Amino acid sequence: MSDVKIGWQKGVVISSKQTKIILDPVGGRGLGRNTHIFITHAHADHTYGLRTSAKKHATVETIRIYEKLNEEQLRNTVSVRLNKPVKVGDLEVTPLNAGHMLGSTQFLVETPKKTILYTGDINCVDTLTTEAAQVSECDELIMEATYGDPFYVFPSRHRTYARIVEWAATQARKGKSPVFRVYAAGKAQEIVRLFNVYTTLPVVTNRYVSRVNEAHTTFGVKLNYIDISSRKPEVFDGTHVLVTTVRDESISSDRSTRAVATGWALKMHSKDFPSFPLSSHADSKQLMNFAKATRAKRVYLYTGCVDIFAEYLRKKAGLNAKPLPPLAQTELGDF
Ligand SMILES: [Zn+2]
Repeated sequence: MSDVKIGWQKGVVISSKQTKIILDPVGGRGLGRNTHIFITHAHADHTYGLRTSAKKHATVETIRIYEKLNEEQLRNTVSVRLNKPVKVGDLEVTPLNAGHMLGSTQFLVETPKKTILYTGDINCVDTLTTEAAQVSECDELIMEATYGDPFYVFPSRHRTYARIVEWAATQARKGKSPVFRVYAAGKAQEIVRLFNVYTTLPVVTNRYVSRVNEAHTTFGVKLNYIDISSRKPEVFDGTHVLVTTVRDESISSDRSTRAVATGWALKMHSKDFPSFPLSSHADSKQLMNFAKATRAKRVYLYTGCVDIFAEYLRKKAGLNAKPLPPLAQTELGDF
């Protein structure tokens, strides 16, 4: 019987006899001295572990974006680099590009018995701010299934970019300022860059987006933007594009017009605002191709359309796919 255990216990757990790794933990309790935390990217649903006092591994970009967004200096962090293995106990962990946002990684874990790849959130196409996720062969694959329902097949990114620009230009011609309410990290920078590359419209961002923009600029992603604090009254006259966060209600007026950019747009049909299927995640087709390319003998799925995607992978790709099982505390020994 294998000594390596894989499962969910307040995060994705991979453990050998000597070492326990927890990937993107969602709780801080019960993290013992021999537990090693790895964080894939700076989105809030993945960064709970950064708030704990334990030692945390993440890329320098992830650490910087988190610090900027939360205005907080992290301690006890170890910065990891793409394709540079890190030894923890009897395990070796190699960060691989995930293509989801700046600094996002997958983690390839080599145990004495087998190789396991944990994807975190992945995107398998190039965007204006990220490169497509790297594929690595592995024995077992733990992958996200956010858009695993075969209904979700996104149009090409360039087609979506073109539609967004076309819509925004039409609004600007009517004297209305286009407003995008999106995640402060990742999606917001892609939209800023989109307008920088394809239009001459100045882009105004709210303070959260501006902080993450600053982090991007530090790492060489060129973004031209104006922070809202320096340009409030005149932004609603159709001469600016506004990129703000989902809950920010302060940026709206009868001279602005709102749009949504998310993969869920494929199922949204609002008369009030247009929605564009621009996602930082892989769609079902990309996920299936990725799973096949890893040649994994076993695939564990977590988050999103887990059951639907497991069945799809079994039937259409002949893969041994199932939901990631929960692990009881007793199964993990004295960590
Ligand atoms: Zn994410």
